[in-house]
Amino acid sequence: MEERRHLKILLLSAEAVPFAKTGGLADVAGSLPKAVRVLGHDVRMAMPRYGRIDPVKFQLQEILPAFTVPMDKQTEEAAVLQGSIAPDVPVYFIENAKYYDRDGIYMYPDDAERFIFFCRSALEMLKRLGWCPDIIHCHDWHTAIVPNWLKTIYSDDPFFAHTASIYTIHNLAYQGIFGYRVLEIAGIAEYGFMYHPEMADLAEVVDLMARGIYFADAINTVSERYAQEILTPEYGEKLDPLLRQRQDRLYGILNGIDYEVMNPATDKYIAQNYDVHSLDQRVQNKLALQREAKLTENASTPLIGIISRLTDQKGFDILGDVLDHVLDLDLQLVVLGTGDPHYHEMFSRIAQAYPGKAAVFLTFNAALAQKIYAGTDMFLMPSRFEPCGLGQMIAMRYGSVPIVRAIGGLADTVHDWDPRGGEGNGFSFTLYDRWALFATIVRALENYKYQETWHKLQVKGMTADFSWDASAKKYVELYRRALAVRGEEAQAAEQ
Ligand code: ADP
Repeated sequence: MEERRHLKILLLSAEAVPFAKTGGLADVAGSLPKAVRVLGHDVRMAMPRYGRIDPVKFQLQEILPAFTVPMDKQTEEAAVLQGSIAPDVPVYFIENAKYYDRDGIYMYPDDAERFIFFCRSALEMLKRLGWCPDIIHCHDWHTAIVPNWLKTIYSDDPFFAHTASIYTIHNLAYQGIFGYRVLEIAGIAEYGFMYHPEMADLAEVVDLMARGIYFADAINTVSERYAQEILTPEYGEKLDPLLRQRQDRLYGILNGIDYEVMNPATDKYIAQNYDVHSLDQRVQNKLALQREAKLTENASTPLIGIISRLTDQKGFDILGDVLDHVLDLDLQLVVLGTGDPHYHEMFSRIAQAYPGKAAVFLTFNAALAQKIYAGTDMFLMPSRFEPCGLGQMIAMRYGSVPIVRAIGGLADTVHDWDPRGGEGNGFSFTLYDRWALFATIVRALENYKYQETWHKLQVKGMTADFSWDASAKKYVELYRRALAVRGEEAQAAEQ
């Protein structure tokens, strides 16, 4: 059946596990392609080859020597190296020393130019490889220019005549907002700013995310709840009028986690492997974590973990308001994160004020993260907003019970424990309020006292299915929907 044919998909992302990661986007970009490949589709990925990605370690091979890419009124040179994230999932690395041979991934003054170059090189690469995807799947603002190009400077290009674009919003708070100059760099100055009657700003700045939303054949966010929330002024980050306009093609698909990588039975980073049938052994990880974090070694003291970017989004302002009260309770806290200096100070202070009770690691450390998932009893995410959130799902997979605010993807994955009916898999609160948070921590601690209850909660989390299986199928349906929209619009244009 033609409609069920296997698709060719190119996924564009600024970061992907195992090559470069700052947050959840990298987890998604590194695991979704594998799950889509399992469904029989030809899925490939492209990302920049940052200086920190070692070609020898990842066995990258040059497949395209330097070629010219239009940038502004000139050209720049790109080369392409190939690696893979699974035997049948190639990754194309765009190489350019000027743009990518730096220590970090983002936060440079020329970020707009760096990612426009990446996207343009990826499109030009496809032509040189002679591989024409049915779908280009773009993620976040870094790649949002592609749907815009497919409807402007590439609209008459026969190579992309049948290629549809999908735009995935991972976090509406990061829109990629720049000045007019970006339009020149991207070669679309003649089209000018965007216009929307309810969004005056769009006529004065280049908001790349808005362009992805406006031009893509289908749009999605990373949970069903967040897809609803962003239609409101409260969570729409000023793009809600545009999102409402595009609501007919906006979907929510929950992220999965990579069950091969995130597996306590095989995880190489943790002191003691275990699974749902050997949960009694899990305590070894708790003791090892307490030792490493210089917390008082005690198997029965409840241990709460936080692994997060330290930003306002994650709810650390309300946590800060009650942190001393929390630490007056009989518990321990371990924090791993980097971000806003204000939160570095806040957590450093409590590490000093509560030795043996609070441990704080202000760094990015993938190995330590696994030890925290495996060694803590509870995992805290009191987010102000949360598009999907991976931490709570990884925590549940490892038997750490989540305490979350019921918002976005957290609300879709964590259901408040109700001891009467035995329903729920964690603890949650709704109101964004310090005392609501505090009360929920207290409630979790009370339940922790009942071993049977706690065991039940752990088993629920560990046996739930947060793998990519279901979500990958939904993405494939979304790809087909985008292709249908693309086909209909092309037909309408011909008439
Ligand atoms: P976001 O994408 O908003 O940062 P998510 O919960 O979707 O949040 O994903 C965060 C991912 O990054 C998780 O895999 C989490 O374990 C990881 N992570 C966050 N901070 C750190 C850190 N300091 N060290 C190691 N891993 C981290």
